[in-house]
Formats: sequence, structure tokens, C-alpha cells
Amino acid sequence: MPHVSDSALHEMLAQLPDEQARSLANIVSGKITHQVRCLSETCQGEVVGYLYVDGTDSRGRIKYRVEPVVKPDGSIKLYAHRKRLDSQYGFECSCGQDSRIARHEAGALKYDGKPPTREGLEDIYAQLQKNPADYPEINGIREVDGFQIERVT
Ligand SMILES: [Zn+2]
Repeated sequence: MPHVSDSALHEMLAQLPDEQARSLANIVSGKITHQVRCLSETCQGEVVGYLYVDGTDSRGRIKYRVEPVVKPDGSIKLYAHRKRLDSQYGFECSCGQDSRIARHEAGALKYDGKPPTREGLEDIYAQLQKNPADYPEINGIREVDGFQIERVT
């Protein structure tokens, strides 16, 4: 990133809508904790998104936000993300790579945005108990269904 003076940065942030300014300020102030790489053949490990700390929830747990990497031409690759019921983040990349639905959720959840039925939820929890999600973090890197979530702090 080219060096930008603090006052110029402040000026830039002031021009943006609140939500976006807050996101950018968090990124700039080093609250990014993870970067997300897409491991498809097309993207070959390109960083497509960031996770950063966005305060804590009412129970004091750290809340994360996901932001796409915005390229100089304004384009993004990370179209969507979702916190899955196996507690991993899933992502959708413009290349077609999509991990938003965990294998435990497949069948009970679809991409139509509708919540699962009660039976569907019971099925997901039964699957998770029978066969717990196992995505170990090794040297700060966790690989989840075609994406790599890499600790950067
Ligand atoms: Zn991709």
C-alpha cells in the first residue's frame, strides 16, 4: 500500500459511508487477524478476503467480520460468506469455489437462503455429533473445503 499520511487517510475515511469507513479503519489499524486464500486452480492461493476483529458480543466473545479484498480496479472475488453450523466460515469466490455449506449441512440446507426445517436442523446436529468437524489449525493455517484461513497476527 502506498504511504498515505494520517490526515489524508482521515479525510478519505470521512468521505465514505459509515459502515465502509469503519471497516476500512479497522483494516488500517491492524485489527485484521486472518486472511482468506482461495485454493482453486483458478485462484491458486490468492488472498480474496480478510477476517478482522469487530468488537465483542454481549457475552464477551470476539466478533469477526469478513471483508473482500478490493482490487485496484474496484473488483472483488469474495462474493459471499457464511458462518456454518460446524462453526467454520464458508466462502463463495468468483471462480466458483464455494464452501458456504458444510458437509454436515448438505441436504438440510440449500443456497436459497431459507433456514433449515426443524428436521433439517436435527439432522445437521446428529451429523455433527456422529462425525465432528475436523479442521485443525496447523502453524496458524486452517484449511476448510478449498479455502485457507491464515492467521496474520
Ligand atoms: Zn477463487
